[in-house]
Amino acid sequence: MTDDDRWLARAVELATANVADGGGPFGAVVVRDGVELATGVNRVTRDLDPTAHAEVMAIRAACRATDSHSLEGAVLYSSCEPCPLCLTAGLWARVDRVVFAADRHDAAAAGFDDREFYDLLEQDRDTWPNPVVSRRIETAGEPFAAWRSAEKRTPY
Ligand SMILES: [Zn+2]
Repeated sequence: MTDDDRWLARAVELATANVADGGGPFGAVVVRDGVELATGVNRVTRDLDPTAHAEVMAIRAACRATDSHSLEGAVLYSSCEPCPLCLTAGLWARVDRVVFAADRHDAAAAGFDDREFYDLLEQDRDTWPNPVVSRRIETAGEPFAAWRSAEKRTPY
């Protein structure tokens, strides 16, 4: 059993325990240098938060634990293939690697939309059932102008 396998087993245990606790079947662990920084479980229905996925919860907790917005050097382990939200959260968090156990097909078989969203992202936005609309109003660039000229900014 590799270190990856052991951390994945931990994420899977969290996921299974979360079901018994009334949550979704997802768990995640953030690890750096062999040390567990934080864990997360799905809390969507309990927190009334559609973004409270296990990986997002683990990333938030790991950042709080390390007092940093970056998880560079860390690995995100997930009981299941991260959905597009969580995969991107991992990229934003700058984790070195993402490792998962079950995949989008396992999630789909249990009634979750991960695979559907991956499929949707590969299609032209004009064909989406929920339109994504771009309207370049006059002030659209102002926040970025403010950012570029800001003296107090923390790049991320
Ligand atoms: Zn997710």
